[in-house]
Amino acid sequence: MSGVEFLEEAIKLYPETKRVLLTAYADTDAAIASINAIGLDYYLMKPWDPPEERLYPVLDDLLSDWLANVPVPYDGIRVAGTLWSASSHNVKEFLARSQIPYKWLDIERDSEARELVESMAQGRPRLPALFFPDGSTLVDPDLRTLADKVGLTTRAEQPFYDLIIIGAGPAGLAAAVYGASEGLRTVVVEKEAAGGQAGTSARIENYLGFPKGISGADLTRRATTQAKRLGAEIVTAQEITGVRVEDPYRIVTLGDGSELTSHALLLATGVKVRELDVPGIEPFVGGSVYYGAAVSEAVHYQGREIFVIGGANSAGQGAMFLSRFASQVTILIRADSLHKSMSQYLIEQIVGRDNINVQLESEVVEVHGDNRLESISIRDRKSGEIREESTPAIFVFIGAKPHTSMLKEDVSLSSAGFVLTGPDLSANGTQTSEWKLKREPYLMETSVPGVFAAGDVRHGVIRRVASAVGQGSTAISFVHEYLKTV
Ligand SMILES: Cc1cc2nc3c(=O)[nH]c(=O)nc-3n(C[C@H](O)[C@H](O)[C@H](O)COP(=O)(O)OP(=O)(O)OC[C@H]3O[C@@H](n4cnc5c(N)ncnc54)[C@H](O)[C@@H]3O)c2cc1C
Repeated sequence: MSGVEFLEEAIKLYPETKRVLLTAYADTDAAIASINAIGLDYYLMKPWDPPEERLYPVLDDLLSDWLANVPVPYDGIRVAGTLWSASSHNVKEFLARSQIPYKWLDIERDSEARELVESMAQGRPRLPALFFPDGSTLVDPDLRTLADKVGLTTRAEQPFYDLIIIGAGPAGLAAAVYGASEGLRTVVVEKEAAGGQAGTSARIENYLGFPKGISGADLTRRATTQAKRLGAEIVTAQEITGVRVEDPYRIVTLGDGSELTSHALLLATGVKVRELDVPGIEPFVGGSVYYGAAVSEAVHYQGREIFVIGGANSAGQGAMFLSRFASQVTILIRADSLHKSMSQYLIEQIVGRDNINVQLESEVVEVHGDNRLESISIRDRKSGEIREESTPAIFVFIGAKPHTSMLKEDVSLSSAGFVLTGPDLSANGTQTSEWKLKREPYLMETSVPGVFAAGDVRHGVIRRVASAVGQGSTAISFVHEYLKTV
């Protein structure tokens, strides 16, 4: 039996197992083909000597992947709430994105869990209620209290750093890896869980080096482990609320009122999904109207008919992911074709998926429901006709706006609110009045010397994981140049 035939049989018995093929150079094409056919995780070239270099690291990596995802007998954190409560959703999303395992108890289906919640709240249940293995509980906690309780780092160890990075998306994490590995005292401060938008993606298929694609959660776990191993500190559940300059220092204010000081600052705050502004939507946000793919919620829509709003790659990926659970996923887009906004490989996947249907030139104009979403009104942009369709949930992906509210007016922004850097600060080869020094700004430097920007928050960039990672790592070279001047 060939290796591929063996693996074909083995996965019938152990579907969750990782699959590695040992192959000769001449059989590389067969190995690549089996990435799709049998979900091959890795192929090794013969010979695997020395195993310390060529075999064990690969197996170690796959085992830690498996360990991070394998269901184990449960005696950990329990989260009790309802599917429709936005605060339950926020807590689940934060735990999932921080790679903290938990068990979900839906109090609408589990009477024991309901009684437990009611007994805790003296008849006025607030959701969610969290039960910890040591017998302690938390009710509707804010993210920082929760992060403290589960042992995440929410405070910086030092008052002073060479480099403070705001935001732990791909740009911030890449900068942390390069900054720390090149000897800078580096801290990353993140207001939610690490990972950024990429961390919410069910599968990133176009990031170099992962032929099978990689989930946002896996990419984040690898990146945070790498950054910490190289010496960067990562503080989560702490929002930066203000940035100020007291030369030669750059000072940030954190959500708890404390301050951190550094020589240089990197804004890697990315963007957040634009909100859908239609009548009736507000009460349902986080409880049946989701921004992004809401990976932790998808399983609850098993066998239901749901809608995805938006036509860019994130919407396509979201639809592909959700179609593994929902019986029918309808993508609503305002344009007359997906080709203007979505990559061809995703369009092909969507066309090949029986339970995804695309409705062009359609937009949601109102949502309806009592305690939970029941239906949405959809307008046909060609005919103007409005029809109502029943659904328990919509997942919204309609563009992005930059996170810059912590900046004061001295950091120049584009008219759309993105951060201007380097060449954006000059017109016809001459620096604009916002730039005060004699030297030219470095490529990724903002109008405030020593404050840099990387990733999606920067004006004029391509908004992709690889681009954010490239910018985050490149920014460190300019930080070094700047540090020579202070
Ligand atoms: C669902 C989805 C799927 C995607 N799939 C792909 C894909 O397959 N391939 C691809 O190339 N790209 C994909 N993208 C785009 C890609 O994820 C982004 O381009 C990338 O994440 C940008 O990285 P970033 O670090 O610049 O910003 P972000 O990922 O947005 O990270 C910014 C971080 O900064 C934090 N932050 C913001 N303000 C503050 C503050 N005041 N204090 C502290 N922290 C703050 C945010 O919480 C966030 O974690 C996808 C995006 C989405 C939403």
